[in-house]
Amino acid sequence: MWGRVKKCFVCQKKAIDPRRYVSDNGDVVVVCAQCVEYAERRAFRKV
Ligand SMILES: [Zn+2]
Repeated sequence: MWGRVKKCFVCQKKAIDPRRYVSDNGDVVVVCAQCVEYAERRAFRKV
């Protein structure tokens, strides 16, 4: 059940309204709506 809940890459909380980004390492990460701004600043690419 919890396995389906993605945690936000930035704040490590349960991601509500998650967006998927590719990090510097090329990993696909989940970022919650509140941390999208951070992801954009880190130049993560949107999936
Ligand atoms: Zn977050």
